[in-house]
Amino acid sequence: MKTEKRPKYDNIFEYLDEHYVFKAPETELTTFYKKDIAENQYKNLTGPVKPDRRAFKCPDDAAALVIEFAKAAGADLVGFSAVLKHFVFEGIEIQNNYAVVLGFEMDYDLIATAPELPSGIEVLRAYWRLGSITVKVAEFIRDLGYSARAHHPRGFSGTPPTILHSVSALEAGLGEFGRHGLLITPEFGPRVRLATITTDLELPAGERKSFGVEEYCRTCSICRDACEGDAIPDEKAEVRGFLKYTIDPYKCLPYFAKYDGCNLCVARCPFNKRAVELSKFIDKLK
Ligand code: SF4
Ligand code: SF4
Repeated sequence: MKTEKRPKYDNIFEYLDEHYVFKAPETELTTFYKKDIAENQYKNLTGPVKPDRRAFKCPDDAAALVIEFAKAAGADLVGFSAVLKHFVFEGIEIQNNYAVVLGFEMDYDLIATAPELPSGIEVLRAYWRLGSITVKVAEFIRDLGYSARAHHPRGFSGTPPTILHSVSALEAGLGEFGRHGLLITPEFGPRVRLATITTDLELPAGERKSFGVEEYCRTCSICRDACEGDAIPDEKAEVRGFLKYTIDPYKCLPYFAKYDGCNLCVARCPFNKRAVELSKFIDKLK
């Protein structure tokens, strides 16, 4: 069952800032990533649209050009969806009807160090790189003469989320949800970060994809057993009309803060494999 009910931002990032202290030390890299995101990416999520509009024969032609640019800019996954109310946060107005969803792979070896610092730094690097790619793709679409707004992958206090990237990625057919509440992709498992661009450039809509995650999670509880916060559920629950596994974010937060990202549920998931091994693993599920 699907509902039109919209997600609500409950100030969880302010709660995080008020109640927890991040234990991991700042490094030169993390300082740079955060500064560049704040000073050069958040400020360029929108911009002027070029007056001469490029015409396309059909939405597929427009999609092919967007995919070519996004991949050249560094995106690992590109998909499309209509902008649906159930992935836009309450209070956020989006006039445009089309969404481009981008995925960016995080490094296998660095994520394998979770919950230690190299894994947290890798997450921040992914936010920084994907943020930069998202801003560039939105700018490229505006240069084609269409409005486009980048929705940054890293929400934080001061820059709360506008859209549920994982749900737009699900609708775009980039993956399936796992028990840990994260999108699992056939290319990289759960080891991806996601971002969205909304636009009035007419694009084709993707379709949801199924490749065995749902069935696998029914009998697997590796992420649940690994989670120190007991934040991952046994059973699905209804969320805005969808029956899905939903983690308890307030149980996750202490460990998220303690480990500067935690990531144990990503690192331990059996779908977290290098590309070739993951492809063989998924083939065996068929
Ligand atoms: S990030 Fe860590 S604490 Fe949060 S759900 Fe995953 S394993 Fe649990
Ligand atoms: S660890 Fe197991 S239960 Fe958790 S998301 Fe991955 S496959 Fe599903």
